[in-house]
Amino acid sequence: MTPQTILIIILGISIISYLFDQLLDYLNLKAQRKDIPSEIASFYDKEKYSKSLDYYSAQAKFSFITSGLGFIASLAMLALGGFGWVDQLLRPHFSNDIILALVFFGVVMIISDILTLPFQLYSTFIIEERFGFNKTTGKTFILDKIKGYLLGGIIGGLLLSLMIYFVQKIGPDFWIWFALIASAFVLMMNMFYTSLILPLFNKLTPLQEGELKTAIEAFASKISFPLDNIFVIDGSKRSSKANAFFSGIGKKKKIVLYDTLITNHTTDELVAVLAHEVGHFKKKHIVMSMIIGVVQIFFILFVLSLMITNENLSLALGGSQQAIHLNLVAFGILFTPISAITGLLMSILSRRNEFEADAYASETYDGNALSNALKKLSVDSLSNLYPHPAYVFFHYSHPPLLQRLHALKIMTTRNL
Ligand SMILES: [Zn+2]
Repeated sequence: MTPQTILIIILGISIISYLFDQLLDYLNLKAQRKDIPSEIASFYDKEKYSKSLDYYSAQAKFSFITSGLGFIASLAMLALGGFGWVDQLLRPHFSNDIILALVFFGVVMIISDILTLPFQLYSTFIIEERFGFNKTTGKTFILDKIKGYLLGGIIGGLLLSLMIYFVQKIGPDFWIWFALIASAFVLMMNMFYTSLILPLFNKLTPLQEGELKTAIEAFASKISFPLDNIFVIDGSKRSSKANAFFSGIGKKKKIVLYDTLITNHTTDELVAVLAHEVGHFKKKHIVMSMIIGVVQIFFILFVLSLMITNENLSLALGGSQQAIHLNLVAFGILFTPISAITGLLMSILSRRNEFEADAYASETYDGNALSNALKKLSVDSLSNLYPHPAYVFFHYSHPPLLQRLHALKIMTTRNL
């Protein structure tokens, strides 16, 4: 394929995926309704509900503008050979390919972060603030940025250097070796995320003795599942939105509860949320998603290996010669149709897993308590009660609230 043909394909993919996303957003916005579903009417007051509709339309308008501007900027970069221009500007100053690639991505990412900074600030400090979610201070925001840069620079930089080194030393078979390392890295991240990465951004404290801990221990012994590494995270530092998750595998496994979750829920509801998370373990969802993740790494790198040294990809982006970093940018776009399909399959699987975990919580603990927790979580985060089915199909990793409540209701009545 000539560089011109490749560029046309790249532009075509960018335009189609942008238009498709806009269409889904539009359908989703049009699906909004003013009435409150009877299942959760008692959890909302009218005012709060109309606030949630305002929140949703404020977010939609904002994302329409940011994605539009982002689309125009990236299309211009691609069509005018902007990436190739950056490469030609840097190339004379660096004789080493690895350093050139590191500087290239560093420059591109810092410039794009600076350009999107006003939007990040507006989203956090204006929109989230207006609806009462934002708890992030200016200091936390800046520190998060610095830590994010350092972490991204170290981890991303190491992986990128290693990949280029492998391409140069091993040739076309580099992908097998790099996939092995990347898989090992992902597994390590899974194991040590809560002990190494999370403490950089949040404070984790062991759950205090008390009613909640006693209730959790009682549940744990009932299902004979060890639940002793329970931590509370200061999520309230950034946002009033609540969450809970499991992290790690084997003995390193930890349960993390947001302080915001604990303040807003009863003990029964909290144990029900934990029971849902245990459900993901017992139904092998965690192991499955790790295996799928590793298979995906191998697949992505195999496809990448077919393109990584093709000079025409670099030329398509305006480069003067073959450069691995330019080919990585081109690959990032050329791969979007495939990643859209795998992403869709993952979402379908994930939604199925959520139903299974809900069912587990209902069978082993209390479906009604889980329903109440889900209702509260949905009300507190002003989540969309009427998402468009097409939007759900492509984007939702969790089933919409009403579907989950419906499934739980069927289960709890059957259990009686
Ligand atoms: Zn879940």
